Amino acid sequence: MNIGEKCVVAFHYKLTNSDGEQLDSSEGQDPLKYLHGASNIVPGLENELEGKKAGDTLNVEVQPDEGYGQVNPQLVQKVPHSAFEGASEIKAGMQFQAQGPDGQAQLITVIEVSGDEVTVDGNHPLAGQVLHFDVTIENVREASKEELEHGHAH
Ligand code: ZN
Repeated sequence: MNIGEKCVVAFHYKLTNSDGEQLDSSEGQDPLKYLHGASNIVPGLENELEGKKAGDTLNVEVQPDEGYGQVNPQLVQKVPHSAFEGASEIKAGMQFQAQGPDGQAQLITVIEVSGDEVTVDGNHPLAGQVLHFDVTIENVREASKEELEHGHAH
């Protein structure tokens, strides 16, 4: 079965940046499952998977616009320490889950703490990066009615 709308795809992947540095991998874990056509994965990768089948391997280079977007300087903001309710100690490098403008989960990274002022970055950690995916497709099947309703693979 070839990958198209209403397919659930399972694949193994290795993600590296332009310097060949490994950012992520499914090695040693279950393959990643997604519902094709539901924007579960970055568009640049989803587009390249279209029409492929189990057993296929591919190398995909994804530009930021088709990946996690460009870095938006407006998402770097200074907020008061009091904005972090319940967190006792705030340090550079910490990450928090916040609510984005569309109600979706947004990852916030603390860049700097200076007195009562905390500088945070709401850009995705991979924003602005060219992504290289090494993909092996493990399985392609038809999505269930429930998966289509939920908009993701089970
Ligand atoms: Zn569900």
